[in-house]
Amino acid sequence: MDYPPSVQRLIFALRQLPSVGPRSAERLALHILKSDSSLAESLAISVSEARRNVRPCSRCGFYAEGPICEICSDPNRDTKTICIVEQPTDVLSFEKSGAFKGLYYVLGGSLSPLDDIGPEELNIPKLLARISDEGVQEVIIALNTDVKGETTMLYLARELHQLNIKVSRLATGISIGSSLEYADSLTLSHAIGDRKEV
Ligand SMILES: [Zn+2]
Repeated sequence: MDYPPSVQRLIFALRQLPSVGPRSAERLALHILKSDSSLAESLAISVSEARRNVRPCSRCGFYAEGPICEICSDPNRDTKTICIVEQPTDVLSFEKSGAFKGLYYVLGGSLSPLDDIGPEELNIPKLLARISDEGVQEVIIALNTDVKGETTMLYLARELHQLNIKVSRLATGISIGSSLEYADSLTLSHAIGDRKEV
């Protein structure tokens, strides 16, 4: 004997989520079933609304509800400075630190020739065009400090120098091999405040 088919489908769907094993999927499904029906409704509505309304900002790649994200449409940001990061969640880390008032560009990964990820896949040509079109004066490269991040940083620095703009990277303080996601706000503030030209 098993659960009714609709419950089995719910358990199966929950299992597709990261870090949810069979036991937790079952626990979550049973919790939804026995809770007030408003929980199930708000879950269903918020999942489908978020999925439908949120897409990458056409300018920077951060999460946006509409064509342009809130950061890109904020008139008080410094449009002459761009911080290049790997993932949209890195933007949130900088925003939480409050140490950066410029704009961002999300690469969506790092260069990895073995996985066929080259400059085109990371939209680097589009980024370079934007930098020269918008008269950007400084680019801060804030990638993870693993091998792929460093390779990408060196590639970007070389391309950006040809545009005659200031190129800097975060100060050391983000430990080698680590992801920005785990850096606390204070570390990030120092890393961006003490950035070094490359
Ligand atoms: Zn944006």
